[in-house]
Amino acid sequence: MFIHQIPRIIPKVLPKLTWQYQTTDESREVYFTFDDGPTVEITNFVLDCLDSYAFKATFFCIGKNMLANPELVQLIINKGHSIGNHTMNHANAWKYNRLSFLQDYQSCQDVIHGFGVKSAGFRPPYGRITNYIYNQISKIERVYMWTYLSGDYNKDLSPIDILQSAKQSIKPGCILVFHDSVKAFPRLQMVLPELLEFCKRENYTLKGL
Ligand SMILES: [Zn+2]
Repeated sequence: MFIHQIPRIIPKVLPKLTWQYQTTDESREVYFTFDDGPTVEITNFVLDCLDSYAFKATFFCIGKNMLANPELVQLIINKGHSIGNHTMNHANAWKYNRLSFLQDYQSCQDVIHGFGVKSAGFRPPYGRITNYIYNQISKIERVYMWTYLSGDYNKDLSPIDILQSAKQSIKPGCILVFHDSVKAFPRLQMVLPELLEFCKRENYTLKGL
């Protein structure tokens, strides 16, 4: 079984990481995040969907994908969305040595700054991080985990299941993870339009981090 929501115990164990945005119930703001892009056509699809509702989101981009698709990065910025750091090469903090990992992080940071914007925060690839790396990066910016992991990259999940679990998870301040990647697109393209319509119907506003 795929676990979309974080078991309650985990945020207690790792309270320093950001699992949910602090907001009031009345604000009805939710935070959609798209990891692993930018990807030609797929990121464009996501941007078009968000545009239809004037919603904003955060793109945790991979540095090498930003270098390969600078025009897409510019489009994300021009449309008023946020860009976050997802390392240069989708680095796994449990496999890299700490210095190589931090170099990979910094390279991505440099790419983002090259576009003249500030990173909105860091999301560790695979959600993997160590105490040492957390301590170093949190001096620079906030480390964002999530309230809801869609699993859109998992071909064994049906779009209907993802939709249902996502709708149940949407609460003020929640952070949702999707992927503007080739792997996730078969599910993302079915789920996203309907989920955005749901948010509008329920009076939620999507914001960048
Ligand atoms: Zn990722």
